[in-house]
Amino acid sequence: MSSMKVCVLFRPLNSKELSEFGDAVSVQGINSDSFIIKDEKEQEFEFTFDRVFYQGSEQADIYEFLALPIVQGAVDAINGTIITYGQTGAGKTYSMEGPSIVDCENKKKGLLQRVVDGLFDAIVNSEKPSKYTIKLSMVEIYMEKVRFESLSLVPEEISRFISIAITQHRFIHKHAFKLSISLRDLFDLSKDNIQIKESKVHGIILNGATEVAISNSTEALQSLSSGIANRAVGETQMNMSSSRSHCLYIFTVQQDFAKDKRTKFGKLILADLAGSEKVEKTGAEGKILEEAKTINQSLTALGKVINAMTSCTPGKPTHIPYRDSKLTRILQDALGGCSQTALLCCCSPSPFNSSESLSTLRFGARAKHIKASVHVSCKEDLDCNKAIAVYTNVDESRERILGKLRETMTAEDVQLLEKLFVLEGIFFDPNSVDEIEAAYEDVTSRTISSLHKAVEELSTGVEKVSFPNGIELHFDVPWWIISQMKRENAALKARLKASEEFYRRQLEIRPLCLIL
Ligand code: ADP
Ligand code: MG
Repeated sequence: MSSMKVCVLFRPLNSKELSEFGDAVSVQGINSDSFIIKDEKEQEFEFTFDRVFYQGSEQADIYEFLALPIVQGAVDAINGTIITYGQTGAGKTYSMEGPSIVDCENKKKGLLQRVVDGLFDAIVNSEKPSKYTIKLSMVEIYMEKVRFESLSLVPEEISRFISIAITQHRFIHKHAFKLSISLRDLFDLSKDNIQIKESKVHGIILNGATEVAISNSTEALQSLSSGIANRAVGETQMNMSSSRSHCLYIFTVQQDFAKDKRTKFGKLILADLAGSEKVEKTGAEGKILEEAKTINQSLTALGKVINAMTSCTPGKPTHIPYRDSKLTRILQDALGGCSQTALLCCCSPSPFNSSESLSTLRFGARAKHIKASVHVSCKEDLDCNKAIAVYTNVDESRERILGKLRETMTAEDVQLLEKLFVLEGIFFDPNSVDEIEAAYEDVTSRTISSLHKAVEELSTGVEKVSFPNGIELHFDVPWWIISQMKRENAALKARLKASEEFYRRQLEIRPLCLIL
């Protein structure tokens, strides 16, 4: 078992800090892994990490200590993840990209440029595969505001929707929106709802995300640069800033050895996370505040996962809430065990930001306790092909199921059900047996009970608005709202019935899936 490597970086003071506090710093170094930091009340806290990079540290040193072993691991088929964490402006993106991803002076190059060079170097110096491919995907987890077109939605949305309509006495169609977290492909902005899946061979997979093959460092930097430029385009379109989104750079390295028919597969994720500052401190208001809160939920989920992992009793099964956010789901492999993970906690050294720095450092201290069992994901060619065959069969089963549903239901309902099951994570790679077991135990009951709840809430809503003289209501409800709610209630009941039937049939098919 190896623990997560956690390092701290104190960036140079910025102009705002210099103007507010001069060159005062709240950090006092003890040695290369320990330091003391003072909070706003001058109280001192001592921290020890794997390495502390004080102001003026070289980007090359950070790479060599934090990332190089992980890069070498990826070439040796050990998955790796490097995460930058910290408040906005603390140096996360600078550590990843340097001042610019291309045309950057050697000294200032960030982790990404060095990782790319490192991957090619490590392959050249490795056991010489007969063929190798390095692929790169870039995705962004961001918040979006989705309009509701009608009431044919997932249950939680319906209940929220109805409660808005009843409590606020506003017309339904005017307030039909929700905030949701989506996954966008930074190489193809039209793919803005990438689904996360799991395979036993390749772990967490981003279904349909563009993978760009890179054959040298120059090509890799050009691709990275286009992804980063798309991130900026997306930000403008969504009127958001990158401090409110998480950016993930995913490198996959596949090496084939013809002589003994082996394939080595390694994955390396670099995660530039959204700013971890507390939203109430940033002065955000209205829509921006909502956005900041929503994206911060992923960081809260990450914190909860880390807490669950570090507070579990050995030998006792503990529920780790990976599924609570897209971020933790994607990083599940990285945090959960079969991976080498490094966390760079980026902090300001100024007293101006000491409370945010302390919160970042506490997060890092907690993460330090995560233990991971590193393993090599080396597969015989045969195994990989078998896995691909299973995956294809699963897609066929899914199509068969959907085809059957199409015979009895409208195309729109089938589409909605498919969407609902994908959202709920019911369509999994059955190669991952644990996943499907958990999914059936967990998702079936959760989804059916949430559908039941939504039907009940909607029925109550219909009753309330049907009797406008009732005590709870102090307004006249237009007849068309009542009839629309009745219609939607009937439709929802029909969907619930169809869902239950669908699950029943899925359960019958399941044993077949598992032995495919
Ligand atoms: P974050 O991504 O954490 O919001 P950035 O990485 O964009 O913050 O950093 C904000 C600014 O601070 C950068 O544009 C850069 O000018 C400066 N900066 C951050 N880290 C460093 C560093 N290690 N060395 C020099 N300047 C830095
Ligand atoms: Mg940034």
